Amino acid sequence: MAKAKAPRRPLESCTIKHINKTINAGDCVLMRPADQSNPQYVARIERIDADARGGNVKVLARWYYRPEESIGGRRQFHGSKELFLSDHYDVQSPDTIEGKCTVHSFKSYTKLDSVVNDDFFCRFEYNSSTGAFNPDRVAVYCKCEMPYNPDDLMVQCEDCSDWFHPACIEMTAEEAKILDHFFCETCSSSGQKKLQNSHAASRPSDTKVDAKRRRR
Ligand SMILES: [Zn+2]
Ligand SMILES: [Zn+2]
Repeated sequence: MAKAKAPRRPLESCTIKHINKTINAGDCVLMRPADQSNPQYVARIERIDADARGGNVKVLARWYYRPEESIGGRRQFHGSKELFLSDHYDVQSPDTIEGKCTVHSFKSYTKLDSVVNDDFFCRFEYNSSTGAFNPDRVAVYCKCEMPYNPDDLMVQCEDCSDWFHPACIEMTAEEAKILDHFFCETCSSSGQKKLQNSHAASRPSDTKVDAKRRRR
């Protein structure tokens, strides 16, 4: 007769001795990849448990995929720090954890003043067997109708509030950075009229144009 599986008990946290850090359930971590020439794996620790005596601690990792690991591959609008929260789980030894990291929401990531090595962001959940994303649509911007890549510099039209890549409006990044006012092609005739209007022209120049910073 097969031996009954020993009951395991959940732990709130565990200490990772080799990095001297306490990991709690729910934390995002960097894990040692099987092939060490690959970047570290990123996972959310969903559960930590141990045997009845508190030994043989294991963690349940829910993997974040990098765009290049997804079926569709990396696309132009994917940010360098973008991850997809997958439906792929594995039981792992806590010894493979090499550090903690932060996976921000897209919104909070775009508001960071500076992005450090262990900052990532996630805006999609990813089905690892079908390659499908949730949500399956996102807002698109610019003439090229692409989702926003937070690594890219964009300028905002003062009239319609759409955002544009400098290259798509025949401008260099340097020109875009020093721009005081911008009206897109569609809005430019009404935009010009507005600038000639004394009320509009007296608005402070810093109200709307906001060249988003390139983060690398
Ligand atoms: Zn564009
Ligand atoms: Zn416009």
